[in-house]
Amino acid sequence: MRPHTRPALGMEAAELDRYWRPRDLRAALDIRAGEGARPLAGGTDIYPARAHHAAWEGSVAESLLDLSAIAELRTLERDGRHWRLGAGVTWAALRDAALPPGFRALQQAARQVGGRQVQARGTIGGNLCNASPAADGVPPLLLLAAEAVLLSPVGERRLPLDRFILGNRRTVLRDDEILAALLIPAERAEVPSAFVKLGARRHLVISIAMAAADAEGRATIGACSEVAHHWNGEVSPISDIRGSAEYRREAAAEVVSRALTLASAA
Ligand SMILES: Cc1cc2nc3c(=O)[nH]c(=O)nc-3n(C[C@H](O)[C@H](O)[C@H](O)COP(=O)(O)OP(=O)(O)OC[C@H]3O[C@@H](n4cnc5c(N)ncnc54)[C@H](O)[C@@H]3O)c2cc1C
Repeated sequence: MRPHTRPALGMEAAELDRYWRPRDLRAALDIRAGEGARPLAGGTDIYPARAHHAAWEGSVAESLLDLSAIAELRTLERDGRHWRLGAGVTWAALRDAALPPGFRALQQAARQVGGRQVQARGTIGGNLCNASPAADGVPPLLLLAAEAVLLSPVGERRLPLDRFILGNRRTVLRDDEILAALLIPAERAEVPSAFVKLGARRHLVISIAMAAADAEGRATIGACSEVAHHWNGEVSPISDIRGSAEYRREAAAEVVSRALTLASAA
C-alpha cells in the first residue's frame, strides 16, 4: 500500500509526513513493522501533542498509520470465557453499548472523558497506549482484570494491563506492535462496579484523582501516581498543577470510599 505524503509544517520538502489508512489488520501490521509508522486512532492525544510541539519546538515529520478503517479493531463482544474489547472502540461506542454490570465503571468513565466530540473520536486503545497517569480508562480496566492483546507480524502476546503500562507515557509496546484488544474475564464482567472522578470542575476536566470499585470490595485508584494501581489503603501521591500530594492523599481515600459505596448499592 502506498502512503499519502505531504510536507510537515516548517519542514523542507524532502522531509515528509507519510500517512497510511489500511482496512486490513495484516496490512497494518506490515506497515507498522516495515515502515516504523506510529499508530493513529482518534488522534485526540496525538494531534494536540503535535500542535504543542510544533508551537514550541518546531514540527517533526512523522509516519502515521491510521487504524480507524480496520473494522476488526472496533468490535466489542463476548468471545467464549472473555469479553473482547477492540482497541479501536471509541468512548462513545462504549458509553452507548448494552453491557453487563461489571462494565459500569468503564462506561461511567466513558461518559466523563472530554466532551462528546472527544468521546466520538477517542478510543480506549489510544487512552491506554498514551499511558497518561490521568487516563480514565485504566482504573476500570485494572478492576476488570483486563489483559492486553498485542499483535506484530511475528505473532501475538498477552499481558495483564498492570504489566502493559510501565510509567508516565511508557508502555511495553514494541515498535512493530499494535494493541489489538483487551480481554476481560466474563465472570468479572458480572460484578457490579462504579467509577468516581474528581476534577477541578464537574465536566470536561482531567482527573485529580479517580477510582473504580466493585461490589466484591475491589478498588483501583488513578491520577495519584505515575500508573494507576489496586487500592490497598496506601498511596504515595504525585504533586502537580492539579493538586498537591497532601490533597491527593485525602482525595484518593474519599473517591475510593464513594466508589465502593456506589458499587455495593448497584
Ligand atoms: C479536549 C480533550 C479532553 C480530554 N479529556 C480526557 C479525559 O477526561 N480523560 C482522559 O482519560 N483522557 C482525556 N483526553 C485524552 C484523549 O482523548 C484520550 O486519551 C483518548 O482515549 C485517546 O484516544 P485516541 O484514539 O484519540 O488516541 P490517539 O491520539 O490516536 O493515540 C494516542 C497514543 O496511542 C497510540 N495508539 C493509539 N491506538 C493504538 C493501538 N491500537 N496500538 C498501539 N498504539 C496505539 C498512538 O500512537 C499514540 O501514541 C482528552 C483529550 C482532549 C483533546
